Amino acid sequence: MERREFKAESKRLLDLMVNSIYTHREIFLRELISNASDAIDKIYYKALTDESLSFNKDEYYIRITPDKENRILKISDTGIGMTKEDLENNLGVIAKSGSLQFKKENELKDGYDIIGQFGVGFYSAFMVADTVTVISKAFGSDEAYKWESRGVDGYTIEPCTKDSFGTEITLKIKENTEDENYDEYLEEYRLKSIIKKYSDFIRYPIKMNVTGRKLKEGSENEYEDYIEEQVINSMIPIWRKNKSELTEEDYHKFYSEKHYGFDKPLKYIHTSVEGNISYKAILFIPEKTPYDFYTKEYEKGLELYSNGVMIMNKCGELLPDYFSFVKGIVDSEDLSLNISREILQHDRQLKLIAKNIKSKVKSELESMLKNERDKYETFYKSFGRQLKFGVYNDFGANKDVLQDLLMFYSSKEKKMVTLGEYVSRMAEDQKYIYYATGESIERIEKLPQTEVVLDKGYEILYFTDDVDEFAIKMLMNYKEKEFKSVSSGDLGIETEESKNSEEQNKENKDLFDAMKNILSDKIKEVKASNKLKHHPVCLSTYGELSIEMEKILSAMPDGGNIKADKVLEINTNHSVFKALKGAYDNDKDKLSLYTELLYNQALLIEGLSINDPVEFTNNICKLML
Ligand code: ADP
Ligand code: MG
Repeated sequence: MERREFKAESKRLLDLMVNSIYTHREIFLRELISNASDAIDKIYYKALTDESLSFNKDEYYIRITPDKENRILKISDTGIGMTKEDLENNLGVIAKSGSLQFKKENELKDGYDIIGQFGVGFYSAFMVADTVTVISKAFGSDEAYKWESRGVDGYTIEPCTKDSFGTEITLKIKENTEDENYDEYLEEYRLKSIIKKYSDFIRYPIKMNVTGRKLKEGSENEYEDYIEEQVINSMIPIWRKNKSELTEEDYHKFYSEKHYGFDKPLKYIHTSVEGNISYKAILFIPEKTPYDFYTKEYEKGLELYSNGVMIMNKCGELLPDYFSFVKGIVDSEDLSLNISREILQHDRQLKLIAKNIKSKVKSELESMLKNERDKYETFYKSFGRQLKFGVYNDFGANKDVLQDLLMFYSSKEKKMVTLGEYVSRMAEDQKYIYYATGESIERIEKLPQTEVVLDKGYEILYFTDDVDEFAIKMLMNYKEKEFKSVSSGDLGIETEESKNSEEQNKENKDLFDAMKNILSDKIKEVKASNKLKHHPVCLSTYGELSIEMEKILSAMPDGGNIKADKVLEINTNHSVFKALKGAYDNDKDKLSLYTELLYNQALLIEGLSINDPVEFTNNICKLML
């Protein structure tokens, strides 16, 4: 018999399972039962959609059989079974490469309950067993096969016999070690409690023979053992239970059983809707951003059941992209089982459910924002970016849904505030909602452009995310107040500086023109600043495209040639300005030198790179000589 190698990735995971000094080994049972239940789901689904088949509920169950003497634990099911190819493909490769990826990334973070919280599936059997044997006969096939493995050294597959279709997994339980007791996985009471704990909601009976004691017949003091078959699980899925019967812990347990995330959910929403459309749903808002959330690999969606039968494990149509972080399940009697993916996309009922879910999630988030501010801020830290993308995407079609959920850091409050809060505090003479963009709060606080606005006592929102300004441009205004970057040419503020700057522009037209000539097309215009107080120079922009947007666009492929229309603003009250004037009158070379220097300084303040750093430093040296 030929021994085959596991695929490289599987080998690593397997190695981890076998050698892990893991404390939650008991979850292997949850994983194997969940696979068995999936296998029965598949056959149930077949029977419901194929009229030539009938589904007799009594014939479908999972059986757990411990054999203490021989250290064997069997898990068998009457599910769809596996062909030879299935055994090869499904058990020879790791199904969820995502969990391995996750494992890799978190390997060093100690104490992370990765295996417990995240599904590793079939391989978890090796946490408790030396040898794993899988005998399976696929539905509709006459042949049965035996797959066997002792771990990393590979596996074998050979033909065997099996009466009925389904799968039987035999675990040869490890011998106890000094610090690990494996015997417990052969004890009835322990197995019972593990099943209750993790698999109570499984919809098919999990049967086990349980030993009881009773009085010997005809005797008054002699007892005897008897064996009785029991169904261990209650079989009622959690979403069918009454909210009042459930505790927060039940929902949290469900969240981790379903592998929705490795965190605890921030919020759960359990709804039951009757009317035009009927469905039950449990939705979760996670606390932490999944490791792949902001990548292309992340797939949004909810589990979809039709009257208790799973029809899809990730139905993306149920969630708008901006709520793609929501996890959970939806069960509706109004959906046909025979529905295909393509048809489902256009299904009227499904659209109705999706619409309901969207407004439910929205109102839950709004109430979290109102009543549980800290929680909301935690949520926003993890998923706020997604909401902002939501405002920006689809040409702003969803901005009304989302605008009240946005938050930005405030110069005044020194914490996150909503747009509503900002507007409610605006000064009477304040025309705009001001914002400043930059890499971090610390950097924005140092921006010279903020001086005038802050001096005026106005609040500034700090935009530190790439998407912020794009989203706000899409929003255009909030409660009829327009947004204004502190770097824009016209701030709409009447100040000494702005009155002064117009005069100065006239008075120094020749100087500014000369400077503009020196800088040529690097700049649109040089002018007297209306916003600087203590700094000598800064950049501002004309039009819609800001410097921050230029930076982001030029970092994208094809975006390289998009440039903001930049204005070099000079503080005419600064002593540097006198030096400029002096140079203009007496020494044209010096004017060139000063102009280049000031321009490069302004670039650096903006976080832009300067064209020729060597020349820049040489120029500074020239000043010293
Ligand atoms: P997952 O359940 O997430 O797909 P697992 O590692 O638990 O990953 O299982 C891998 C695959 O092996 C399953 O997707 C399924 O196709 C197959 N499988 C495992 N156990 C059974 C079983 N009892 N009956 C039928 N197929 C099974
Ligand atoms: Mg599984």
